[in-house]
Amino acid sequence: MSAAAPTSSPIGAPAGSRAPFEVITAAPRDGSTQARAGRLTLPHGVVETPQFMPVGTNATVKALDPDDLERAGASIVLANTYHLYLRPGHERIQRLGGLHRFMAWDRPLLTDSGGFQVVSLDQLRSIDDDGVTFKSHLDGSAHRLTPEASIEIQAALGADVAVAFDHPVFPSSPRAVVADATARTERWAERSLEAHARSERARELGQSLFGVIQGGLDPELRAESTQTIAALPFDGLNIGGLAGDETPIQRADALRVVVPLLADDPRPRYLMGLGSPIDLLDAVDLGVDLFDSVLPARVARTGQVWIPGGRLNLRNAAFLDDPNPIEEGCPCPACRRFSRAYLAHLFRARELLGYRLATCHNLTFTLDFMARIRAAIQAGRFPDVRQELRVRAGRIRAGEAAGEPA
Ligand SMILES: [Zn+2]
Repeated sequence: MSAAAPTSSPIGAPAGSRAPFEVITAAPRDGSTQARAGRLTLPHGVVETPQFMPVGTNATVKALDPDDLERAGASIVLANTYHLYLRPGHERIQRLGGLHRFMAWDRPLLTDSGGFQVVSLDQLRSIDDDGVTFKSHLDGSAHRLTPEASIEIQAALGADVAVAFDHPVFPSSPRAVVADATARTERWAERSLEAHARSERARELGQSLFGVIQGGLDPELRAESTQTIAALPFDGLNIGGLAGDETPIQRADALRVVVPLLADDPRPRYLMGLGSPIDLLDAVDLGVDLFDSVLPARVARTGQVWIPGGRLNLRNAAFLDDPNPIEEGCPCPACRRFSRAYLAHLFRARELLGYRLATCHNLTFTLDFMARIRAAIQAGRFPDVRQELRVRAGRIRAGEAAGEPA
């Protein structure tokens, strides 16, 4: 795949976007990195970027309570529109005071559009230009999501940030499939904006709306989608259709198309679905501000914990006699009080505490890694410490790390 950046000039944000985002440290002019630091100001608090969002699929980051999340350093959490729409239902959550109150999380929340889950249902859905008809993975009941419905559900949930309904496809999809989904995403982007502008509840909440760039791995489609979505008055720009089956080089090539086109655009750039430390570092280096992924929590529940330079598999018998903490000096509840031996025992006995402690550790590690990245950028030292950060990140790529199912 060739990665020649298009020659079109960068674009700024269109009039009308509220842009609750401020760049605090811009990328240096010498081109040594595109990494930048910023601040996203939302109704429930400020999010320093680059930032990682833990995923609370069912209005909970599996095994953790809000105090665990705060201690791990989470400043914003993602919740899944598709899952909450099906169960317990967005109207019920609204009646109970909205998602923040429901899950007792008083810091910022972002909901995704539901598009990814719905489109991933594969055998269970059909897509037309108006929306997607799908069958619930829970009970097989029939449902329909449109841009308008997604926006209404997200307004009812009441997150600080909602996302426009999009049509994602696997990065490796044939060009015609990517082109079709990208064009549909652009039409749905405008409908999402109109529905959001009409929503009284979204206005009362001060809810932001982010739009989604698609375009797969094709530089022309990617550039065209970037320009089209960036021309709309969204508050932030998601880079979709990556963190799938592409290689790290293909992902970098796609970012080298998108980011230069957004060089003068003051809005946050959010790459959906990326979660291994080395992938986060590389994407920050290429100019991305925000990330989310289930990965650190999912692998923790399989007994895999991240440490500087790599990972430990707590199911390995060698740890049954290891009196050391997972990581010396880590402030998480696992490392402060417990040994690797105890964790190894908990995993073998399938004790619930093991899942919680390992998840606390991996999220603490990931969020601390992002804090180190931010500190380096703010000090103007990111290019100097990039190699040090690479060593700390280890070489675990998402594909190798995913391993076992949730
Ligand atoms: Zn720890």
